[in-house]
Amino acid sequence: MPAAQSPGPAVAHLNAAARVALAGQPAEALRLAQAAETQALADGDQPGLATALLLQGRAHMAAQAPLAQTLPPLERAALLYQGLGDLAGEARTVNLQALAHAGGDDLEAALRCHHRGITLRQRLGDKAGEAGLLANIGALLREHGQYAEALKYLLMAQEVAQQAGDARAVAHALAHTGTVLDALDDTPRALEHLLRAQRLAEGVADPALAAAVHTSLGRLLARSGQPAEGQRHLTRALTQARASAQPAVTAQALLGLGLVQQQAGALPGAERVLLEALTLAQRAGRRAAQAEALLALARNHWLQDQGETALRLLDDALALLQPLPPDHLAGRLHELLSAIHEQRGAHAEALYHYKAFHAGQQRLRGQDTQRRARALLARTELDAAQRSAHALADELDAARASGREQQALLDQLAAQSELLRQLAREDGLTGLANRRWLDTQLAHEAERARRYRHPLSVAMIDVDHFKRINDRCSHRVGDEVLRRLAGLLRGACRQVDVVGRYGGEEFVLLLPETPLMAASAVCEKLRQRIAALHVGDLHPDLVQVTASIGLAGAEGAAVQAEALVQAADAQLYRAKAEGRNRVCVDRASG
Ligand code: GH3
Ligand code: MG
Ligand code: MG
Repeated sequence: MPAAQSPGPAVAHLNAAARVALAGQPAEALRLAQAAETQALADGDQPGLATALLLQGRAHMAAQAPLAQTLPPLERAALLYQGLGDLAGEARTVNLQALAHAGGDDLEAALRCHHRGITLRQRLGDKAGEAGLLANIGALLREHGQYAEALKYLLMAQEVAQQAGDARAVAHALAHTGTVLDALDDTPRALEHLLRAQRLAEGVADPALAAAVHTSLGRLLARSGQPAEGQRHLTRALTQARASAQPAVTAQALLGLGLVQQQAGALPGAERVLLEALTLAQRAGRRAAQAEALLALARNHWLQDQGETALRLLDDALALLQPLPPDHLAGRLHELLSAIHEQRGAHAEALYHYKAFHAGQQRLRGQDTQRRARALLARTELDAAQRSAHALADELDAARASGREQQALLDQLAAQSELLRQLAREDGLTGLANRRWLDTQLAHEAERARRYRHPLSVAMIDVDHFKRINDRCSHRVGDEVLRRLAGLLRGACRQVDVVGRYGGEEFVLLLPETPLMAASAVCEKLRQRIAALHVGDLHPDLVQVTASIGLAGAEGAAVQAEALVQAADAQLYRAKAEGRNRVCVDRASG
C-alpha cells in the first residue's frame, strides 16, 4: 500500500464535489462519495476514506434512506477517525449517527451516540459543543415525553454553556427548557425561560434558533389567551425558519401558525398551513411532527363536522406512531377520538377513548415525573436562592449602615434561609434524604434511642456491580435504576424509617425501635425485592439488579451513631467479599 501521507488529489476533489451535491442532489452526492471511497482505498488515503464514508452517510440521510444503508458507512467512518486519533472527525460522525437513530426513532441508540459525542467534546475541550449535545439530548427526551429527564439534561446544558460563555448555546438550552416547562404546565416559568432565550438569540445570527424560540413563544402565548401576540411571534418564526432552510424547523413554525388560525376559527387557512407543515415534516423525516400535523388536521375536519375524514387522518397518525404513540401525543389522540365518536353518537367508543385519555394524562403527569421535575427545579432554585441570599446579606449590611428597612430585609433573609433549609434535605436524583440530612437524622435517632432505651438498627445497601450497569447500559439507565431502587426502598419501609442516599449507589436505612433480629428480616425481604425488581424494560442487557446489605444494631446506652455506621459498613464489605446479593449482620452488636 502506498504511504498514507501522499493522498491523490482526486480523492479530495471527489469529496468536495460530493459535499456540494449534498444540497439538493443526494443521489449524485452518494455516487461521488462512493467514487472517492474507491480512489481513497487505492491510494491508501485513510483521512480521505473517512471523509468519503461520512459524506455517504450524509447523502443517505438526505435521501431518507433506511438506517440499514445510512449506518454502515458512518460506523466505518467512526472507526477510521478513532484509528487516526481525529477526535473532531469522530465527534462529527457520532453526531450524524445520533441524528440517524433519532430519525429512525431509536431513542436509546441516539442517546448512546450523544453520550459518546459528549465524551469526545470533553476531550476536545469544546464546552459549547458539549452544551449543544446535552441540549439535544434534552430535546430528544422531551419529544419522547420524558420531561423530568429532559429537564435534567437541559439544566446541565445551561450550566456548561454558561461556563463556556457561549450565548448561542445558553439560548439554545433556555429555549428547550422553556418548552419542557410549558409541557409540564408551568406557564410562568416557561415564558420566563423563553423570553430570556429570545433576548440572547437576538445577539447571535442563527435563524434556526430564532425560529425555534419564536415558535415556542407563539404557541405558548396563543394558548394562554394572547392569540394576537402569539401570531406575531409565529409569523416571525416562519420568516426565520424559511431563512434557515431547515424543513423540520419550518414545519414546527407552520404547525404553530396552523393551530393559532384553527383557534381563531379560520379553518380553511389553517388547513392550508397544516398541510404544508405535514409535507415538510415528511421531508425532514420527523414522524412525531407528522403525527402532530395529522392530529391538528383531524381536529380541523372535526370542527367542520367531517368526522369520517378526521377518523381517517387519526388512523394515519396512529400508524406513524407504531408500535405505541408517546404518552403526550397518545393523550391528545384519544381525547380527539373520544370527541369524534361522541359527535357520531358512538358513546361506547367515546367512553373507551376518554378513559384511555385520562389514564395517559395520569401517567404523564404521574407522581414520579412531577416529583422529579420539582426536585430539579428545586436545585436551580436552590442555586438562585443561595445567590440572592448572598446579595441580600450584602444589602443588609448596607441597610444597617444607613439604618433603613432593616426589618423587611431581615424577614426576607429568614424566608430565604427556610427555603434553603428545605431544599438542602433532599437528594436531587431520588428525592430521598441526602447524606447531610441522613447524618442529622442519625444523630437525632441515636439520641432518642439512648434516652428512651430503645433499639436502633442501621443498614447500608450497595448495588452490586453497578459500574457495569453504567458501562453497558449508559449512565441514564444507571440513574433510572437508582430511582427505581429508591422508590422500592421508600415503599417497603415504615413511615418512621429514614431512607437516604448515602452517595453514588449506596443507600442507608435507619430503623428506629427495631431490634437486630427484626431488622435482619426486613433487610432480607428488601434484598429479595431488589433482586425481583423489574428493570428489563430499561435496556436489553439489563436482566437483574442485586444489592448487598450490611446491618448493625444497638440498644439504649450502647447506641453510638458513628459506631453503628462503621459496623454496618464492615458487614457490607463482608457481604461483597462473600459473593454479593446477600445480607450480613453484625452479630456482636444488637
Ligand atoms: P460492587 O459490587 O463491588 O459494589 O461494584 P460496583 O461496580 O457497584 O462498585 P463501584 O463502587 O466500583 O462503582 C460504583 C459506580 O457507581 C461508580 C460510579 O460511576 C457510579 N455512580 C455513582 N453515582 C452515580 C449516579 O448518580 N448515577 C449513576 N448512573 N452512576 C453513579
Ligand atoms: Mg459503592
Ligand atoms: Mg456497588
